[in-house]
Amino acid sequence: MSGITLSGVCKSYGNQVEVIRNVDLEIAQGEFCVFVGPSGCGKSTLLRMIAGLEDITAGELKIGGRVMNHVASAQRGVAMVFQSYALFPHMTVRENLGFGLSLAKVDKAVINEKVAAAAKVLQLDHLLDRHPKALSGGQRQRVAIGRAIVREPGVFLFDEPLSNLDAALRVQTRFEIAKIHRDFGRASTVYVTHDQVEAMTLADRILLLNTGEAVRREGSVAQCGAPLELYHRPRNLFVAGFIGSPKMNFMSGTLVSSRPGSARMQLDSGEALDAAVDAKGLAPGAKLTVGIRPEDALIGSGTQSLVREVQWQERLGETTYLYLRTSNETDPFVIKAPGNLHASAGQRIAVALPSEALHVFDAQGHALERCVQDSDLPVPQAA
Ligand code: ADP
Repeated sequence: MSGITLSGVCKSYGNQVEVIRNVDLEIAQGEFCVFVGPSGCGKSTLLRMIAGLEDITAGELKIGGRVMNHVASAQRGVAMVFQSYALFPHMTVRENLGFGLSLAKVDKAVINEKVAAAAKVLQLDHLLDRHPKALSGGQRQRVAIGRAIVREPGVFLFDEPLSNLDAALRVQTRFEIAKIHRDFGRASTVYVTHDQVEAMTLADRILLLNTGEAVRREGSVAQCGAPLELYHRPRNLFVAGFIGSPKMNFMSGTLVSSRPGSARMQLDSGEALDAAVDAKGLAPGAKLTVGIRPEDALIGSGTQSLVREVQWQERLGETTYLYLRTSNETDPFVIKAPGNLHASAGQRIAVALPSEALHVFDAQGHALERCVQDSDLPVPQAA
């Protein structure tokens, strides 16, 4: 049993503001949960509380059904992998891998067997007699992961393990971590990252943490759910803007009229838009923010469209991102177009905004309910 339960968990340092406020979370045995959020939101602090490296100011932590608030880290059945690898420089890879087991006075033959098995999984077999200084960053991180594996923990904790690796190695090691989690099916994994692509690709469930004033207002949890749930049904503006890259485009406007399942708005730039959302409780004139993801805005005029000037384009091969001019120079409107599309700066283009692709948020930033099935969400098409 290695499920993790957090109930009303809070963390403050001295008399300073609370870093973590009111986290309720149940991570099932075998689940891969990713903590994500902007720098300083408290992801590492929350992970370190689970690991037993930070005290819990208030609330309760259970692992495998047992209250762990005051249980020493070594007795929690968790293994942690850090960004900084934390290998012993004077020990070989073999000694680093087996160190935790030697400390626990495990039989030498068993240690050798487990070290060999972990080395095989992580393709470290040929490096067992090297010291860390003779390894690349990726190899060092694999040793750190191997050291966690040999302990056969009930819970794997990863704190930004890929941040020191270059882009190609990040992708490869991400794949290895997913594979390890799958192969150790009974272990729960908690993984901290600021990178929403890592969060989307690895997680069964994402916990997105609030930052700043929102923590005091709403607690630390901005939203918790499956990756695509956060993507398609963000609960508020913060979640909508954080999940997705390039990020969702936002435009401000006001409510003109509404009926169940549909709302008509007027943008500050003048155009009218219908959105498949429920605006119940809002009166005409209410301030709104409309959002649309870059891949949902389609080149060409549809039933409702905007005409905007191309400011810039990024041609990535399979995709071209067009940056359209808005009244706010720092926040262009980005659309994802096919890679063979070429537009020139200054060209004016029409962009269709399907009503069922729109996200709408009230003046407090809360999402209005979207009246679309996930399977109805539009598939981007070439013009
Ligand atoms: P994240 O991992 O999301 O980047 P952290 O969990 O490292 O954020 O830190 C959350 C906040 O707690 C930060 O504002 C940080 O400055 C503060 N913090 C972390 N450790 C301490 C400490 N020992 N004393 C006071 N504040 C701390």
